[in-house]
Amino acid sequence: MLDRCFGARRVRQIQRALRHGKITFLCLFITVLMLRGYIGGGKFGTPEQDFKEIRDHLYFRKRAEPHRVLEEAQLTTSDTTESNNYATFDLTKLAVDEEGEDEKPDPSKPYSLGPKISDWDEQRVKWLADNPGFPNFIAPNRPRVLLVTGSSPKPCENPVGDHYLLKAIKNKIDYCRLHGIEIFYNMALLDAEMAGFWAKLPLIRKLLLSHPEIEFLWWMDSDAMFTDMAFEIPWERYKNHNFVMHGWNEMVYDEKNWIGLNTGSFLLRNCQWSLDILDAWSPMGPKGKIRDDAGKILTRELKGRPVFEADDQSAMVYLLASQRDKWGEKVYLENAYYLHGYWGILVDRYEEMIENHHPGLGDHRWPLVTHFVGCKPCGKFGDYSVERCLKQMDRAFHFGDNQILQIYGFTHKSLASRRVKRIRNDTGNPLEVNDELGLLHPSFKAVKVSSNS
Ligand code: UDP
Ligand code: MN
Repeated sequence: MLDRCFGARRVRQIQRALRHGKITFLCLFITVLMLRGYIGGGKFGTPEQDFKEIRDHLYFRKRAEPHRVLEEAQLTTSDTTESNNYATFDLTKLAVDEEGEDEKPDPSKPYSLGPKISDWDEQRVKWLADNPGFPNFIAPNRPRVLLVTGSSPKPCENPVGDHYLLKAIKNKIDYCRLHGIEIFYNMALLDAEMAGFWAKLPLIRKLLLSHPEIEFLWWMDSDAMFTDMAFEIPWERYKNHNFVMHGWNEMVYDEKNWIGLNTGSFLLRNCQWSLDILDAWSPMGPKGKIRDDAGKILTRELKGRPVFEADDQSAMVYLLASQRDKWGEKVYLENAYYLHGYWGILVDRYEEMIENHHPGLGDHRWPLVTHFVGCKPCGKFGDYSVERCLKQMDRAFHFGDNQILQIYGFTHKSLASRRVKRIRNDTGNPLEVNDELGLLHPSFKAVKVSSNS
């Protein structure tokens, strides 16, 4: 039939061409097989995959190793349905025992922070005499101080909250290193009854009793930052007092104003009196009905307090205002400098402070502490706009951090900027640097070494 259509000669030509084609095709097939064997097409050997691998192999020979590593990583991850992507990882997978029941308190017993202790001063004096290597004063008028702060055991609602916690603790570490203060960061909820802002009470008691060598414990909220790295607490001023908070006598004792003092940054002496005031402070703390009912009393009794559960600050105002005779004498309400400074009145003035003043003043000219009351950067909702809080927290952090960076010859490009620039050139005489604020080797940090020790 082919003969009839094309003629005999033409048919022979076609048959020869087909024979050649068969050989060519066979050669091509063998080549592909060899290449596949060489680079290992494996079970994914679809024609498309073969082509891709041949291409990758020939064109990206130099990148052959990383390519293989990547492929292995993809293999393992797809096998176990795990991801190596931190950005999309579901954090709830890490919560193991969140649902478990906590120890339930006995409702018939009044809440207590711990076993009754009434001779702490005697116990402590004896311990100090027995342990001369751990004196409670490290220089005349210079008590040994432990700064205590902390945050919830859980990650923040928004991961950026944890970044601000990191900035805030870095800031505290800087201040404490410069001033020879020890630091303790707590993340454990020691007493489930005292969750939230009450968590500091059981913690403080535990630390006072465990560290008799500590003379003053300095509580500082996680949302407070040091903005004056050079200011040293006037320790001498408090030699006859046990409890120092930022506040005003008239506002607390006369007005009973709920913001007459602030409990976000305070100093507490390690003594029996302090254990007693912790006991007197704590009864409104247990969460649930007790805390809710106490909140109603506080809102009724205190000036300007909104309706919400009992908080440690209102409870302290109420305690002092209603029992001034008992506690007032040993409480120092400080307002000559910002032991706590409300951020709302400070953060917009940093540039003006830089223009006119210098670190070391601690007051309205250069505040020791800027406290972001109400911002709740780790929580779900705060009382202010998130953007305003985070921007202003950055400004406060950079304002404080500039005082650290200047020691090493750097500064932030602006209070809004994470980036830094040089403020002086390095020289071959590194020990001759001019450390303006004297923060490199501050006198208050000097240790007196006796020659025979
Ligand atoms: N805090 C803690 N554990 C918690 C929650 C809060 O240690 O589970 C601490 C934390 O240092 C926080 C402080 O309690 O800064 C008081 O809360 P916050 O600062 O949010 O109150 P505000 O200053 O806004 O009144
Ligand atoms: Mn706070």
